[in-house]
Amino acid sequence: MTSAAPARQVLAVRYGHRVTSRAESYLNFRLYGEPDAELDIDYYFWVIRDDAAGVVLVDTGFAPEAGDRRRRTHYTTPAQVLPSVGIGVDDVTAIVVTHAHWDHTGNVRQFPRAQVIMTEAEYAFWTSPVARRAHFAAHSEPDEIALLAKAREEDRLTLFSGSYPLAPGIELTEVGGHTPGQLIAAVTTPGTSGPGGSGTVVLASDALHFYEEVERDRPFAIVADLPAMYRAYDTLAQLGSQPATRLVAGHDPLVRTRFAPYAGPGMPGEAAVAAGTGIVDLTAPRG
Ligand SMILES: [Zn+2]
Repeated sequence: MTSAAPARQVLAVRYGHRVTSRAESYLNFRLYGEPDAELDIDYYFWVIRDDAAGVVLVDTGFAPEAGDRRRRTHYTTPAQVLPSVGIGVDDVTAIVVTHAHWDHTGNVRQFPRAQVIMTEAEYAFWTSPVARRAHFAAHSEPDEIALLAKAREEDRLTLFSGSYPLAPGIELTEVGGHTPGQLIAAVTTPGTSGPGGSGTVVLASDALHFYEEVERDRPFAIVADLPAMYRAYDTLAQLGSQPATRLVAGHDPLVRTRFAPYAGPGMPGEAAVAAGTGIVDLTAPRG
């Protein structure tokens, strides 16, 4: 007798957007001898949901007021959008903080009871004095770091080094590079290799802002440790070469091309994804 694998949803929610430039996005872009050009940057957070794991939020996006201050276009927050896919705030049992940059920690405050999981290295760095130096401080919000410390006091913070099995088929791995303790999440899913099949989606978050970083070996401009960033690209390239395994870049509009829009009850699907806020079904690769 066979039992059906539990259905697992893995979604990318596009919650913001900005037009930037290639020179601003790639480290020492002049090395490549190419003209500069505009570059669209998407902002995402991710949702994993199934019967066994419950609802796991991977990052939370930026707070609307922090986005306004930095002139980012902003569409939604987790608490605003999750009800449209049938998820209430209290259903979110765990929040993975892939790294503590402002565009990932901005709405942890919406989930005051959730367990928060991040790397020890990331937490230690952002609560240390060097994180207050200008080139690091520009990418964080002090009240959001304070909230992580508060979660620790409340016994809601899990810190790990190396790798951490969050739930069956959800493995977190510390890679560093972009930030001192940046992590990636490998999630096994039904469907990623096609209807009925199973595979793995790798939520790279900002270990891979744009696919081009791995595909053309071009480091992103914001980097704490360049050798570690290159090693993270190697790790991701290796993962991405595995059968039925798909990388999900953290800020790349190509995510909306490489995966199908989520169309569930009450979800407008393709049109909304194209127009602005939209939800991408990471168990439905296309092409
Ligand atoms: Zn980011």
